[in-house]
Amino acid sequence: MSFLIGPMRKHINGHKELTAHNELLKVENIDKVYIPLVMGNAKIDVLVKEGDLVKIGDKIAERNDHFNVPIFASVSGKVLGIEKRQATNLRPSDHIVIENDGKYEKSASLSTLGPDASKDEIIAFMKEKGLVGCGGAGFPTYVKYQTDKCETLIINAVECEPYITSDARGIVLYKEYLKEGVLAMFKASSAKVCYVAIKETKKDLIPELVELFKDAQNVEVKPVPDVYPMGWERTVLYELIHKRYDKLPIEVGCIVSNATTAIMLGKAMMTGEPITEKIVTVSGDGVKEPHNVLCPVGTPYKTLIDMCGGYSAEEVEVISGGPMMGGAVTKDEVTVGLACNAVTVLKYHKVEALKCLRCGQCVEHCPSGLEPVNISNAYKANDIDRLEKLRPMDCIECGMCTYICPSKIEVTENVRKAKRAMALRAKK
Ligand code: SF4
Ligand code: SF4
Repeated sequence: MSFLIGPMRKHINGHKELTAHNELLKVENIDKVYIPLVMGNAKIDVLVKEGDLVKIGDKIAERNDHFNVPIFASVSGKVLGIEKRQATNLRPSDHIVIENDGKYEKSASLSTLGPDASKDEIIAFMKEKGLVGCGGAGFPTYVKYQTDKCETLIINAVECEPYITSDARGIVLYKEYLKEGVLAMFKASSAKVCYVAIKETKKDLIPELVELFKDAQNVEVKPVPDVYPMGWERTVLYELIHKRYDKLPIEVGCIVSNATTAIMLGKAMMTGEPITEKIVTVSGDGVKEPHNVLCPVGTPYKTLIDMCGGYSAEEVEVISGGPMMGGAVTKDEVTVGLACNAVTVLKYHKVEALKCLRCGQCVEHCPSGLEPVNISNAYKANDIDRLEKLRPMDCIECGMCTYICPSKIEVTENVRKAKRAMALRAKK
């Protein structure tokens, strides 16, 4: 089976009503932030030391391997040092601890960028401001735009994961930043057309977006079906331009950027501020009062959950991101990083998996065209030769195979393990 054959798109209950329209909470007077120094396995250079005084937007660390990504202070105050805490990779990882002085002073070096900036100036600005994909991937944005092969820019406002409403909330709050950011991305991409993709069920937002971009030439708002995983870039790209690619969208002349990333670019252009705060959806049946929360980068998940009334059950599962593509963390000391958009808390239910019915549902619904049940079985049998043929590395960990399985088998988890086994084998 190849990509995008079969149903592989399904409407799933979004539970968005839990946070879509209630008050936006704001983290204020936080004592300390813990800025995670985690970007895959990349080495991060720390540029501050214990006792240094910093302001919001001061550069405090920098990724310096084949990509360059600066990291900035999210509050003003004193650097207390480096602390190891669990990060989303579940490993104890370095975090820069800043004691908040409560003044929220901004760095004197916050440079802005006007709307007349050239393509090269915008790309250099994305790099200088450490802009990364805010849809969960955290990939450095400037890298995508260093091309002259882009014909179509897609701004992805689909937000298809259940529970998450932070993109939609950001769009409502920061329309000016969104417009500025989208127009700058359009110019930086050199594309001929820009599509702003949004679910057709977002009836309130669509007219607002149409109004926002009514004077922007070649920018079109494109409603797309409310199915999962429509927000995945392969699916939204296929929906809009009917093309498939192997590794990257630019192979078919396309760049896809998340709507919140565009908002962050627009904000940086207009105010000079890099990503120092995020809107995070805190939702799920394991938290008492789900809300969107605006917080500084480096805020512990525990702080967000407490602001939302705390846990609603003794045993919960805390997920960084949404329930389909997010990853469970084992400690709520994990903090909000640059790409964090949600913390989902679910009541723990012991699930007794049944025998595989060989129903083929997981195969039919896999958006990557894989055979999850066979990958799972080959992994359990340690049959590496068979695994190689089944291409587990193409899995995007969308969670659909587990969601769809009538026997409640943790198929996605087994495919994840198979991916790890293949990665380890490749390293040898
Ligand atoms: S988690 Fe992976 S294997 Fe399962 S449906 Fe999604 S892409 Fe396919
Ligand atoms: S969906 Fe579940 S029961 Fe059906 S084939 Fe896949 S693993 Fe087996």
